[in-house]
Amino acid sequence: MLDLVIKGARICDGTGNPWYGGDVAVRGERIAAVGVVRARARRAVDGAGLVLCPGFVDVHTHSDGIVEHPAAENILRQGVTTVVSGNCGGSRLPVAAMLDRVEAGRPAVNYATLVGHGSVRGRVMGAAKRRPTRKESARMCRLVEAAMRDGAVGMSTGLFYVPGAYAQVDEIVAVAKVVAGYGGVYATHKRSAGGKLFQALREAATVGKRAGIAVEISHLKILHRRGRTRPDRVEAVLAAVERYRAQGVDMTCDVHPYPATFTGLSSVVIPPWCAKDGKLRERMRDAAVRRRIRAEVAGKIAWIGGPDRITIARFDPDPSLNGRSLADVAGARKGTAASVAMDLVAEGDPRCIFHALRPADVARIVCHPAVMIASDGGVVGARRGVVHPRNYGTFPRIYREYVRERRLLSLEEAVRKMTSLPARKFGIRDRGLIAPGMRADLVLFDPARIAERATFDAPHSFPAGIRAVVVNGHVAWDGKRVSRQRAGAVIRTG
Ligand SMILES: [Zn+2]
Repeated sequence: MLDLVIKGARICDGTGNPWYGGDVAVRGERIAAVGVVRARARRAVDGAGLVLCPGFVDVHTHSDGIVEHPAAENILRQGVTTVVSGNCGGSRLPVAAMLDRVEAGRPAVNYATLVGHGSVRGRVMGAAKRRPTRKESARMCRLVEAAMRDGAVGMSTGLFYVPGAYAQVDEIVAVAKVVAGYGGVYATHKRSAGGKLFQALREAATVGKRAGIAVEISHLKILHRRGRTRPDRVEAVLAAVERYRAQGVDMTCDVHPYPATFTGLSSVVIPPWCAKDGKLRERMRDAAVRRRIRAEVAGKIAWIGGPDRITIARFDPDPSLNGRSLADVAGARKGTAASVAMDLVAEGDPRCIFHALRPADVARIVCHPAVMIASDGGVVGARRGVVHPRNYGTFPRIYREYVRERRLLSLEEAVRKMTSLPARKFGIRDRGLIAPGMRADLVLFDPARIAERATFDAPHSFPAGIRAVVVNGHVAWDGKRVSRQRAGAVIRTG
């Protein structure tokens, strides 16, 4: 007896091949058969007129909040069945303990993690802005090796952030070699998306070449100097990725389909040197140093297009600022954007949405064959406050905008970018495809109705058109209700 059969759906199997009609049968946690299924099943779902594809694999997330909020409803209801956490250089340590905690909480979706180089460096060197000694480098390698043995799928760097920004390429190559020895991936939040973007890509390629490791450029994005938007820049960036691939570097990228980023204000506007040794506040109090910092902060705000492009999302010391722009707050406080930004950083460093990307660049990146879709989001616990809509809408938005409305991607190519491509790249071998023997992670959706509903103004909205989500053979979402039995697994590779 089968546990589940989905009958007569358009099967889009994740390979990129054209869809075909058929049934998919599930026994236990795995796909038992694909094609015409006659055997009886405990549960049958009618797939007529619907697309059945592998569950979406979201390789760029910050979803350690799944420990506190294992239902992860904003993730599950997009059709995402697997998340990879520990991105941008930050992960919990040790990885073994984190994986155990996630497992004990019985998550609704599958969870895998990278080990964060920034977290490892912070553990060994604090906020020191210098090269590691031989001893420190060896200690970092040992910590990374332990994480890989414990089941991390690779290592991430956040070279834009402190302390990752203090690391030079030799340091990264040394730890990346350890990761390569376990078949792990190197995912990097590049050092610059602005003026030094091409150097940053070259640095990632250098790590790939010298460490012999597969490289993932996290959330590929392009910042244009204010007033000098250059449409050819995105073409040059994608050509660089293709050139590195031609040179033998397995470089791919991920992106989410929104022209806005989300992170801490300090990481975008405060130059990394100011945070050296953890003495940012001290430096900002010294009048002469403050003037120097303020000039650089003003330059950084101008780079991304001005203070009206920055929306404060979460500022715990004064939640009344949430949802307001930096321009607005600077006006209310009667200060310049740069000095008010520095004050906000000192008062509690708000999380902000930066409306800084060119929509045409985002579309071009989304459609490139070496680019996969990833949300850069996480688990939203409570449905309130200002959050980036990518947390609720990334995957349905790809279908709605790129496949159905603009016809820039085929159904099959869009699904490939959300399933087999990310699963293969991150070493998750038994997910991301519909085939007998694979884990039964599935999404059934209505191609005429699937759409994101979350917007920047109303971000806490679940998508439409997702008719069922199956995680490890269990129907976790049936189009009406979330199952209380959470069936996600912790993925340990290596
Ligand atoms: Zn990042």
